[in-house]
Amino acid sequence: MKINRLLLFVVPLLLAAAVMVSAAYRPETVRVAVLRTQDEVRIDGEGLLVSDEDGDAVSVDFPSVARRVAGGVHLGGGTSRKFTVSSPSVVRINGRGYRGVIELHPFDKGILVVNELPLEEYLVGLINCEISSLWPAEAVKAQAVIARSYAIYQKDSRRGALYHLESSVMDQVYNGADIEDSRAARAVRETAGEVLVHASSVIQAFYHANCGGHTEAAGNVWGADIPYLQGVECDYCLASPSTRWELRLGLRKIESQLRSAGYQFGSIREIRCGKTNGSGRLQSLTLVTSKGEARISAVNFRKSVGYAVLKSTNFSIRQKGDEVTFTGVGNGHGVGLCQWGAKQRAADGFSYREILGYYYPGTRLERLKN
Ligand SMILES: [Zn+2]
Repeated sequence: MKINRLLLFVVPLLLAAAVMVSAAYRPETVRVAVLRTQDEVRIDGEGLLVSDEDGDAVSVDFPSVARRVAGGVHLGGGTSRKFTVSSPSVVRINGRGYRGVIELHPFDKGILVVNELPLEEYLVGLINCEISSLWPAEAVKAQAVIARSYAIYQKDSRRGALYHLESSVMDQVYNGADIEDSRAARAVRETAGEVLVHASSVIQAFYHANCGGHTEAAGNVWGADIPYLQGVECDYCLASPSTRWELRLGLRKIESQLRSAGYQFGSIREIRCGKTNGSGRLQSLTLVTSKGEARISAVNFRKSVGYAVLKSTNFSIRQKGDEVTFTGVGNGHGVGLCQWGAKQRAADGFSYREILGYYYPGTRLERLKN
């Protein structure tokens, strides 16, 4: 009798505890498009489990190759519109290890590989793709917070889509788990769940490699005026060897790049710099062509020539015959945190909170609620 009464009291308590734990233990996950291929994907790993679009287990001998076929993806003797592959450690896709779950989807004429994994594990792999975990710890922590904020924002804005994030510079570079290390893991752990918030929403935490002296207002790049992305001075990146650059390009090459991007300017004879904006970057360029003069925004010019080729819109031009020399500073769109500036600030003793507060004025740090 005594025991029964005790049980009556204890069991509801235990149940309540279980509910609380499960409510607290609901890690945020992200879905990342890690590969798009036209034909096949090589899959390997220890203890892999595979299921098809109906959730039925599929027997596969690994290593194995998934192929795009009519009606879906072919793997292990069967064809399905979706395969899910999981592992207690990592799933290897074309040799690269990924944590969490891998999904294979037919996509156009090829295969789309989506990696769904806990957000915090994604961040540990991301650090050494975006910067180096050998950078000062406070800069690495700042990177963890902005990558987490960016991922959460994209997840929310792409809710219901097949995936939330590209694994390239289009979103954030992510090459899986192979380059994780203890310093990256520590920066993620020490900022666990922390995101930047403005007016009760997680911010669009854009960032870039090197601003070249002044970060850019989002409005100058994307036309959207965002209060915490107005552009700030940043002398800290100027000492970096990657700040200054020079690029030589032939007019015919530029012409063909612009044509591929959909512009029909005629034959270009000369390129002139237009006005600069408040951050020192060019607003536009004037093209002297066989059809007359034409204007193009510097942002669209850079996009057409190639983001990796023309590193920023902060440059001057010299022309000799058909060859144009661009001399510039900075690397990237310039909006939000300057990674090389953050590195130097951390080396000079600023905390990650101070660094984030500087590049995203008016924002505050908050921990994600489960
Ligand atoms: Zn900078």
